[in-house]
Amino acid sequence: MGNRNSVGTETMPFGNSHNENKMKFPVEDEYPDLSAHNNHMAKVLTVALYEQLRGLKTPSGCTVDDVIQTGVDNPGHPYIMTVGCVAGDEECYDVFSPLFDPIIKDRHGGYCPTDKHKTDLNPAHLKGGDDLDPTYVISSRVRTGRSIRGFCLPPHCSRGERRAVEKLSVEALASLDGDLAGKYYALKNMTEEEQQQLIDDHFLFDKPVSPLLLASGMARDWPDARGIWHNDNKTFLVWLNEEDHLRVISMQQGGNMREVFERFCTGLTKIENLFKTKGYQFMWNEHLGYILTCPSNLGTGLRAGVHVKLPNLGKHAKFGEILKCLRLQKRGTGGVDTAAVGGVFDISNADRLGFSEVELVQMVVDGVKLLIDMEKHLEKGESIDGLIPAQK
Ligand code: ADP
Ligand code: MG
Repeated sequence: MGNRNSVGTETMPFGNSHNENKMKFPVEDEYPDLSAHNNHMAKVLTVALYEQLRGLKTPSGCTVDDVIQTGVDNPGHPYIMTVGCVAGDEECYDVFSPLFDPIIKDRHGGYCPTDKHKTDLNPAHLKGGDDLDPTYVISSRVRTGRSIRGFCLPPHCSRGERRAVEKLSVEALASLDGDLAGKYYALKNMTEEEQQQLIDDHFLFDKPVSPLLLASGMARDWPDARGIWHNDNKTFLVWLNEEDHLRVISMQQGGNMREVFERFCTGLTKIENLFKTKGYQFMWNEHLGYILTCPSNLGTGLRAGVHVKLPNLGKHAKFGEILKCLRLQKRGTGGVDTAAVGGVFDISNADRLGFSEVELVQMVVDGVKLLIDMEKHLEKGESIDGLIPAQK
């Protein structure tokens, strides 16, 4: 079999668009043109680093060219600073650590290779959170991703692996009961109208239209082995084989983030145990926490957010600065690729790694309360200068 970690005589089993002839050219001829780029990968990847990594591959055959393709093809993004690379399997974070480590440090507030991540999925540790003003907060949601150890990640998985992840997950989820009991809906078996309705109602991932998703290889074979599992009242949902093997979501109308987080923790823990009884683990280590496809989601993978009406504050000159101080981010209500319309924002935690799940949800609960307070001041024509928070 030869050396599994270097490109040699062996063919790459599921190599995407990158072939081994790249090793016949001088490194300068293979180095991507990153001159117009503004993403974390482009900031880090020098010719020397590319030379160091281009001959390596993970045991499944993932190369640095597979990892960086999405960042090469997407120089920037209108609303967010993108990472510019993805992991094709768990081992990528090791084999290509000279690339990933500085990106992780940059993206996750100085997080170092020696740092240890913490997990806290005990909702009893959350203070408050059941009383976000429903006049302003339309809906509350918590999501994370999970990857099943032993299978390549969506940018690099084979069809068989993807179908196996789907089958395993559907079997495991079938054991959930009570409020969490639900059904699986494969994308393949849905009508166009059913799919669009679920997207419009904010329950389902978008179609593979995002250039970030397309260039990473994650949309290959769409819609094969993709789908959504959800309970009857659509408050607990699991996406299969979109950006991650699993995306686990708890959501409901109104501002009771506490209830949403409780359901999230209970459901997620049950799912993890169901996989364990089948002999499968989620990808995790002490340094990176839960391992996901996009380095921006490492750690907790958790995004807790609300759709909230902030028509006045949203127009305020200091809105961006205030969010940064509270360690929050804004999106439009149609998802990451959309801008806010009508003063309604998706406000969520900006961090994923280095903080526990409880700490991140606490930041959202406390921060959103303050934002609503500010909105009320602005409504009455009062100044918010005295309310600007210190950097968290
Ligand atoms: P994710 O981080 O889960 O990938 P996206 O920004 O891609 O989030 O959005 C996915 C879908 O989830 C979109 O339809 C979005 O409107 C919906 N969504 C996100 N947050 C909320 C929320 N607090 N309430 C209702 N829907 C939400
Ligand atoms: Mg998304």
